[in-house]
Amino acid sequence: KTQEPTLAEKLKTSYELHQEAAKVIPGGVTANIKYFTPHPIVMEEGHGSRLYDADGNEYIDYLMCYGALMTGHGHPEVFAAVTEQMYSKGTTIFGTPHRLETLMAKKLVSLYRGIEQVRFCNSGMEATMLATRLAAAYTGKKKLAKFEGHYHGGYDQVLLSVNPAEALAGESEEPLTVPESTGVSDYCVENTIILPFNNYPAAEKILRKHAAELSAVIMEPIQGGFIPAEQQFMEKLRRLTEELDILLIFDEVKTGFRVALGGAQEIYGVTPDLTTLGKVLGGGFPVGALGGKREIMEHCSPGASKDILTAGDDNGNKREAFFHSGTYNGHPTTLAAGLATIKLLETHDNMMQVFQKTAYLKQELEKLYYSYGVPMQAMGEGSIFNIVITDKNITNLREMNCSNTALRKKIDYELLDLGIYSKPLNRYSVSTAHSEADIENTLRAHEQALQRVMK
Ligand code: PLP
Repeated sequence: KTQEPTLAEKLKTSYELHQEAAKVIPGGVTANIKYFTPHPIVMEEGHGSRLYDADGNEYIDYLMCYGALMTGHGHPEVFAAVTEQMYSKGTTIFGTPHRLETLMAKKLVSLYRGIEQVRFCNSGMEATMLATRLAAAYTGKKKLAKFEGHYHGGYDQVLLSVNPAEALAGESEEPLTVPESTGVSDYCVENTIILPFNNYPAAEKILRKHAAELSAVIMEPIQGGFIPAEQQFMEKLRRLTEELDILLIFDEVKTGFRVALGGAQEIYGVTPDLTTLGKVLGGGFPVGALGGKREIMEHCSPGASKDILTAGDDNGNKREAFFHSGTYNGHPTTLAAGLATIKLLETHDNMMQVFQKTAYLKQELEKLYYSYGVPMQAMGEGSIFNIVITDKNITNLREMNCSNTALRKKIDYELLDLGIYSKPLNRYSVSTAHSEADIENTLRAHEQALQRVMK
């Protein structure tokens, strides 16, 4: 009887391509998060819900480019919009204002309760960078507060306490500011305050203490798309930040168009001062957007900046103008893809169907794991969820880190072998392209994975 090939044997070409890449690209990856041991899998094609790797293996894709693909790979209508934009207008980019910018801005204003005006940029990271600088400019205060465990992109001011080693993180009620990379500037460490998530009394104490210096609180309303802020926590935080003249920034790069068309702010019924978007908004192309209250956003306007320059502030001090720019901002191809994607999500009950499929998958996975004696919570909102192996209630990163990630990892590697793609330990993102058959196949694969690891 011939033996089934091992995962390593099935990934021979991936391994070789990775070795070749690593000679000219550090670690063979263009983003650290794309790496996993023994080597990442090199993909060649993506169609609908499927990915095909360099060895010809087929996977049902739940990474969906870290959530960016809400209509799957290469949706024909998104493709058509992109090619139509390029062919009919004869250019890829103008470097001037164009109609799609206003169309997309109006769309975001209509969908997001916290957005009255919008600026576009090229990544989620750029959007949060613009948000924090604008908050500092608007309030005249220089410190920022962020929550422990929340990710807002890979730059100094927010690459702090995202997943700090326990020994460095300090008390849970008063977390320390821990840089997540060497080279992060001391200025950012000193000027960023870390708050405990879902612990209102502790967060309130810290915010009151630093209020005079704090420009903004930035947060993922649903951390990683799967640990929600408690409703009461959110409402109290909104009231407190208003009272203390601290702006509230919702980073909806992950949750935007994935937990509801209008993001987490639609679910909570809470209006932030500023909102950052990215991922799904670009329909598979690089994008970011910052939206918010008109009064704050107007500071980005060259006209408003000029007034500030000439008029000065209340004390007659001349201030620097606020600056925001970017060669590729409002890229027409990206906006055409994004508008086509949103149109698809607004059509019929497409969004609801994704949510229903996700809810079914979560419920059946929980039952399945339970039947193997594994306490598991499929935690998440809308189209995103995570597989968290624990019977404890999870409300923040510290609790999450106590779950059984070792077992989860073993299952994830078996799933790769069984044709389910998610980077080990990553969240699942479901799309309109995932069929009922995909969901059933995914459940069968999990059952096989559990059989293998639990034996
Ligand atoms: N903010 C959140 C909540 C994110 O999830 C991410 C990316 O995963 C970012 C910001 C950064 O976005 P980008 O990777 O487009 O720079």
